[in-house]
Amino acid sequence: MSFRALLTDKHADGKVTSAVQELDEARLPKGNVTVDIEWAGLNYKDGMVLTGAGNMVRDYPHVAGIDFSGTVSASDDWRYHKGDKVLLTGWRVGETQWGGYAEKARVNGDWLVPMPKGLSPRDAMVLGTAGLTAMLAIDRLEAAGVSKTIGPILVTGAAGGVGTIAISLLAKLGYEVAALSGRPQHAEALKALGATTAVDRQDFISGPDKPLEAARWAGAIDNVGGPLLGKVLKQVHYDGVVASIGMAGGTDLPTTVLPFILRGVTLIGIDSVMRPMEPRVAAWKRLGELFDAKAYAGLVEEIGLEGLPEAGGRILAGEVKGRVLVKLR
Ligand code: NDP
Repeated sequence: MSFRALLTDKHADGKVTSAVQELDEARLPKGNVTVDIEWAGLNYKDGMVLTGAGNMVRDYPHVAGIDFSGTVSASDDWRYHKGDKVLLTGWRVGETQWGGYAEKARVNGDWLVPMPKGLSPRDAMVLGTAGLTAMLAIDRLEAAGVSKTIGPILVTGAAGGVGTIAISLLAKLGYEVAALSGRPQHAEALKALGATTAVDRQDFISGPDKPLEAARWAGAIDNVGGPLLGKVLKQVHYDGVVASIGMAGGTDLPTTVLPFILRGVTLIGIDSVMRPMEPRVAAWKRLGELFDAKAYAGLVEEIGLEGLPEAGGRILAGEVKGRVLVKLR
């Protein structure tokens, strides 16, 4: 029995390349559940793995893909049976383990999530790691008491995967949302998704620079990090809450303690990869209830395995709009 996979390899000169190959099932890694993959997602981290950036892969050849959905084809785990619809995100699958860019995966059943009510395997990957992370961030903002009335929630990296899904979920929950993007050409699409205001990244960064600035945001979901996150913190209202998700603009955080000690701002870190099962399953249940797949349809691009190396470069260049889905069967 063989299956198609995008095999990523590192060459003697250090270059990392990927090509579609036919593999024997005997090459699948150890695990107690085998899944026929239907859909996989493309995330910023997948772009890094496909290009070798960040040295996240220990053993080559490798199969990338940090999230996937599909149907169980064989299981030695009492919780899963042939025919069950499942999804997987995180747990370093696609980094230290073979991931979703293949027609089959073999994984530890502990990492799987049963398909939530209200989501098809395709919907689950429209959301994928991006959707789970956006939901976890909103859960944490709510738990920290973020205000619905004092001002908008600012979403940075707004036209990307996490950003677009966060906008759509926040709007559905009744928050006013400001979408900060470096690509003004997507402003209308972000407003159609539920953003009330579009903020131009260039204008935002080049505005006045003081230790504390006029308070504009009740909270923020930040996908960018770096100086942009430092700037966001200066503009958050008293008792505001900011969720730090990403590093598309850098890993440093130039800030002072002033937003924290003079305005009581809370900065929360979000990790979707190792999130324990209970909050993870609860977040997926909530996504099944809240996510409007129809309203999001225009932000989804479908590709095959062959299209991944090119799309991986595009996501790192900040050129992907919404979510890229990989159709496996
Ligand atoms: P995308 O590439 O889809 O979105 C990132 C967005 O950030 C881009 O669309 C762009 O938005 C903006 N951006 C890109 N480059 C820059 C830059 N140099 N400076 C400022 N803004 C930039 O990625 P995802 O949405 O999948 O992921 C977003 C971030 O969150 C990534 O850093 C990713 O690694 C991280 N992440 C973290 C997770 C966690 O568990 N903590 C889970 C998932 C993702 P625009 O053009 O609108 O400005």
